[in-house]
Amino acid sequence: MLFLLSGPSGVGKGTVRKALFKRNPHELLYSISATTREARRNEVDGKDYFFVSKQKFEQMINEGQMLEYAQYVDQYYGTPKTWIDEQRQQGNDVFMEIEVNGAMQVRAKVPDAILIFLLPPDLMQLRNRLELRGTESDKVIDERLKTARQEILMMTNYDYAVVNDKVDKAVKKVQTIIGAERLKAKRL
Ligand code: 5GP
Repeated sequence: MLFLLSGPSGVGKGTVRKALFKRNPHELLYSISATTREARRNEVDGKDYFFVSKQKFEQMINEGQMLEYAQYVDQYYGTPKTWIDEQRQQGNDVFMEIEVNGAMQVRAKVPDAILIFLLPPDLMQLRNRLELRGTESDKVIDERLKTARQEILMMTNYDYAVVNDKVDKAVKKVQTIIGAERLKAKRL
């Protein structure tokens, strides 16, 4: 099965995903994305992302190596396809965490993927979180909020929506969704 968590930048997708994977009772495998953006402090190549050049990323697109990709605030982000195919063929369940344009490509290409939308309690809180993180300039924060407003409108294309008011609560809801979907698919 393919589970996908998406939602606006700064909504806490990364935090929810990391908290989920700390416990990971369903033994999901995390799909590591490729990106052209620079690594932040503490980020490790091959663990958080595959950090690649623009040229390399475009080569991967042209060779059809991406399940999906998007340009987000002037950088490329994408999901390498082969690894996902291999895992799914071996019967492993994969978990992706990506932005909304890529999520819609996955919806079209993998119709049985389970799409979960993570919502901010409100947009002011989203700005506060981006500012607190302190990794982006004001200009980038403004661009990310503008994108967030457009992204929230796309929520209707998802199977589930989870409000991220408290990380623990959001993780539990995501786990409940995963458990229920696995039960439906008779994967106990
Ligand atoms: P960040 O730069 O904060 O790590 O990520 C920016 C945005 O890119 C986030 O919304 C994140 O979920 C998204 N993202 C990360 N990996 C991928 C990917 O492989 N594909 C797409 N479409 N978006 C991604």
